[in-house]
Amino acid sequence: MNKREDLSVAEALGLILDRVAVLPEEKVTLLDALGRVLARPVVAADDLPPFANSAMDGYAVQAGDVVGAGMDTPVILRVVADIAAGSRNTIEVVVGAAARIMTGAPLPTGADAVVPVEDTDEPWRDAHRPLPETISIRRVVKSGDYVRYPGEDIRAGALVIDEGAVLRPQEIGTMAALGVAQVPVFRRPRVGILATGDELVEVTAALTPGKIRNSNSYAQAAQVRALGGIPVMLGIASDTETDVREKLNAAVNERVDLLISSAGVSVGAYDVVKAVLDKSGNVGFWRVRMRPGKPLAFGTYGGIPFLGMPGNPVSAMVSFETFARPAILKMSGHQSLSRPSVRAIVLEDIRSDGRESYIRARVTRDERGYVALTTGSQGSHIMTSLVKANALLVIPEGVTEVAGGTTLTALMIDWPGVVF
Ligand code: AMP
Ligand code: MG
Repeated sequence: MNKREDLSVAEALGLILDRVAVLPEEKVTLLDALGRVLARPVVAADDLPPFANSAMDGYAVQAGDVVGAGMDTPVILRVVADIAAGSRNTIEVVVGAAARIMTGAPLPTGADAVVPVEDTDEPWRDAHRPLPETISIRRVVKSGDYVRYPGEDIRAGALVIDEGAVLRPQEIGTMAALGVAQVPVFRRPRVGILATGDELVEVTAALTPGKIRNSNSYAQAAQVRALGGIPVMLGIASDTETDVREKLNAAVNERVDLLISSAGVSVGAYDVVKAVLDKSGNVGFWRVRMRPGKPLAFGTYGGIPFLGMPGNPVSAMVSFETFARPAILKMSGHQSLSRPSVRAIVLEDIRSDGRESYIRARVTRDERGYVALTTGSQGSHIMTSLVKANALLVIPEGVTEVAGGTTLTALMIDWPGVVF
């Protein structure tokens, strides 16, 4: 496995996804389940609504009593009860009777419909109005009107949310309504993030000649967190095998689920990450036919899946997008692993070197549909063109020239940035 292999993006991703597994499930409280993937189906223990109740503030009646009621032909009923939401009533609405009832209050026995208060002579704009002795009904209602029946939304025993669902606010609310307080979800991956290179200093340190700040670790930690993973910062390893090994061993002890490094996997004289991993024996070094990016290490270290990214900041981020993102999503239980994409008309000529290229671009929408403009220099050290981008345009392998007007697939890394 130690020889350098040439792989397409799809081949590399396939190998990676084959070798990362969905993490075990855990139970979390309702609100902590937001954005997580449900590990077991939610089956309703109760009906929802749990009991017949009123959909309006009004009067519970027997529909048979108000046949023919109208503005000019009101039906007068005797008011026998006042039923507030949350109350338990034992009253029965018999022929000729009505009960004042609030939205959500239990429908009394005998009644089979509700007349909205606006269709009565009660002065409904006044708060705190006393219960009238009689009520004048000014419209017809059919049996069942303005009544919410038990189980109308969800029947006890029904499958409500399937395993694999990504939990949104509406699922959280539905589970709350069903009394699900602890939610079985797949565990969030803990991802160890290691920077390597003698040139790197911490963000807070002063820059001295020859040094740059470690930006990759922060970008990658943010990428992990944006996916719902838990970044574990492993710091900066110097370009010595001892230091790299020490930091990786520390991560193994921290029980991370995935290890991600940047730099040191290329063919430079000081590419010590490669040297350390080579000796550990379980890592392959790939030349992926993509741009930016190319060198990629993948395998296991101490039994933990390991992804070694290139060092250049844009290459590191695009490689993460392409390989680490789907892996982390799979580990978290997600079934949809790719970014949403659109077909966009490119508004300028673009060149490529024949590798599958991921071009930083801004996609907007106009009368032609989705259109794309590149965001400036595509150098793998130029972060600002990634800052301006909301998409990566994919130029397929083998294509070296894309003429303006061509339609390409745009991977949307930032949907809210699209102007509609
Ligand atoms: P290497 O893969 O070690 O040859 O690094 C490629 C380029 O990426 C070099 O210019 C490095 O200085 C740069 N680089 C490596 N690691 C980082 C990092 N953590 N943050 C920013 N730039 C980095
Ligand atoms: Mg280096």
